[in-house]
Amino acid sequence: MDYLLTEEQKMIVDLTRRIVREKITPEVVSRYDETEEFPWEIIKILADAGLFGVYIPEEYGGMGGGIFELSIVTEELSRACGGIAICYAATALGTYPILLFGNEEQKKKYLPPLAAGTKLAAFALTEPNAGSDAAGIQTTAKKEGNYYILNGTKQWITNGGEAEVYTVIAMTDRAKGARGATAFILEKGMEGFEFGKKEKKMGIRASAT
Ligand SMILES: Cc1cc2nc3c(=O)[nH]c(=O)nc-3n(C[C@H](O)[C@H](O)[C@H](O)COP(=O)(O)OP(=O)(O)OC[C@H]3O[C@@H](n4cnc5c(N)ncnc54)[C@H](O)[C@@H]3O)c2cc1C
Repeated sequence: MDYLLTEEQKMIVDLTRRIVREKITPEVVSRYDETEEFPWEIIKILADAGLFGVYIPEEYGGMGGGIFELSIVTEELSRACGGIAICYAATALGTYPILLFGNEEQKKKYLPPLAAGTKLAAFALTEPNAGSDAAGIQTTAKKEGNYYILNGTKQWITNGGEAEVYTVIAMTDRAKGARGATAFILEKGMEGFEFGKKEKKMGIRASAT
């Protein structure tokens, strides 16, 4: 078994390292850390380099890699700034449920802009009363005609307010316990979908929570 990186993976590492060296300098990192400003400038650089698509299949505009490619980019970004790295990694967290379980229509609609990095995603599971105990979420989704109506509050969602696409977990059948949860795709701007205040954190302050 070959434990070494492939040529393509080495190129991904080199590219990310170069971006880190040239663009995510200690000055840039401390500026984001102090101001808590969302690092859109860096997101754009990562997007232009194609790094948001490393784990997305080519047919949806990605590079065709997987979790390993995603991890090596995240690792290299983390060397410079945990906050920027988590902005990048959390968009994958919100994208993966679509990649794994979305239907073809959803994949065609959502994956290309996420692979291009022109839109970010987020994953919304945690609630004020449900963290580790994920099955304890109170958010519900009820089918009314052709729509589901979601009711509930999520908390501590990375990229919350900045992302355009949200994978939101809600209970559709409480009698089934944890198996009664369903993932929904929400878009920023949908009726009734609002954002609370941004948390002031003690670390990874370039990321929005
Ligand atoms: C910066 C940040 C970003 C986040 N981003 C996201 C996100 O993008 N999406 C999202 O859905 N959530 C996100 N979260 C929420 C995160 O997933 C939760 O904080 C986590 O699930 C833990 O839940 P909790 O904070 O409610 O802690 P709790 O579940 O209340 O746990 C508190 C403490 O009790 C311990 N504990 C809990 N249960 C047990 C048990 N049964 N036995 C022993 N010990 C136990 C835990 O280990 C912990 O030390 C984020 C949180 C932070 C801080």
